[in-house]
Amino acid sequence: MSSEAPVLKLYNTLSRAKEEFRPLDPANVRMYVCGPTVYDYAHIGNARPIIVFDVLFRLLRHLYGADHVTYVRNITDVDDKINARAAERGITIRELTEGTNKIFQEDVKALGCLEPSVQPRATEHIAEMIALIEKMIAAGHAYAADGHVLFDVPSMAEYGRLSRRPLDEMIAGARVDVAPYKRGDMDFVLWKPSKESEPGWDSPWGRGRPGWHLECSAMSWKHLGEVFDIHGGGIDLVFPHHENEIAQTRCAFGHEAMANYWMHNGFLQVEGEKMSKSLGNFVTINELLHTENFGGRKWPGEVLRLAMLRTHYRQPIDFTVKALEEAEASLRKWSAQIGAVSAAPAAAGEVLNALADDLNTPLALASLHELDAAALDGALKLFGIDICAYRQWVEGETKQAVDAEQVSSLISSRLAARAAKNWAESDRIRDELAAMGVALKDNKDGTTTWEVKR
Ligand SMILES: [Zn+2]
Repeated sequence: MSSEAPVLKLYNTLSRAKEEFRPLDPANVRMYVCGPTVYDYAHIGNARPIIVFDVLFRLLRHLYGADHVTYVRNITDVDDKINARAAERGITIRELTEGTNKIFQEDVKALGCLEPSVQPRATEHIAEMIALIEKMIAAGHAYAADGHVLFDVPSMAEYGRLSRRPLDEMIAGARVDVAPYKRGDMDFVLWKPSKESEPGWDSPWGRGRPGWHLECSAMSWKHLGEVFDIHGGGIDLVFPHHENEIAQTRCAFGHEAMANYWMHNGFLQVEGEKMSKSLGNFVTINELLHTENFGGRKWPGEVLRLAMLRTHYRQPIDFTVKALEEAEASLRKWSAQIGAVSAAPAAAGEVLNALADDLNTPLALASLHELDAAALDGALKLFGIDICAYRQWVEGETKQAVDAEQVSSLISSRLAARAAKNWAESDRIRDELAAMGVALKDNKDGTTTWEVKR
């Protein structure tokens, strides 16, 4: 860390307090975020943790150096929802998850997110999952019964420390299935048997597949070690998912912690209501980018990203057309302000200080207004907002709205007028095109190219 770098403080769900961030190893700061289950398009609620933790990834890279941060975001490609959807569509699980993951990667790229250092797939970590279960059994924290392996919740005294819920609430929250092979109501599945038609792997307990919670413990262990710095995800994952990840990893390795800082982003609503398919307000990232289903138009990724960052990540967010329009107005203003300035390195102290204070993006955005063009461009890059990419989107959309055939026919007429030295007609056509928003460029070889100006 350079001497002028601000002190990074992060709100830790474990302590319910903002704490100074001290990495285990500043030469390799390690962060894990629960990634998507790839059975369907990612919705805008899924986009929130991806954008929030991308800002944190960028900030950590800025503070510790790009080569000193490892960010792991997994891909869950084995899950009962995946099995059901693949069967419904009559395709293999691999076909479904490959296709869905490809769209997911395109969506998050459009949102301006850097690729994580590693994006492990659950199906490629079955050996680690089996090894973890064996460690838990050996340590007396898990037991095999009837083709299943279960985590023995009462065997862990500190179970529930993250979510701080009373036991009866935890039982309700976990939607506990009463099953004859379970010793305790709260015990959760680490491994379960697969039917012939279901995906399965050979294990000491028969052919089966992992429980969802186990996947994250195995992938974080493989890529970040037994204890790492930051674990993130949506607040809905605190219980039972993160509580169970902690139980598994701590009981397998015997450490006091799985990760030292647990970070959670708040809920997302759409136009003041909980997003749900039945309310008809279920919005995917893909349709926001590529269709006119939300607010009657397409939205560029930069607008979606900025709209998300105008609210502090721990607050609930209301995702609305109005908020998108306001974000777009800011982008338009910045785009004009930055003009042709080439990017200066991010040197905006106020912006950096605000981000270092538990990712206070609303405060950081408010301080942008005091910056000159070069500093503004540098600061926006810290947020992952690329003004050039935004301009290209605007240009592309405007160009689509212009009738390209009409433009080329007018250009031919103008070339003919020029050949006949009819300068008045040539200028008239140039003006007509300018009125359409089309700018001409006469090339040395006698051809004319065009582009759309805003
Ligand atoms: Zn997870």
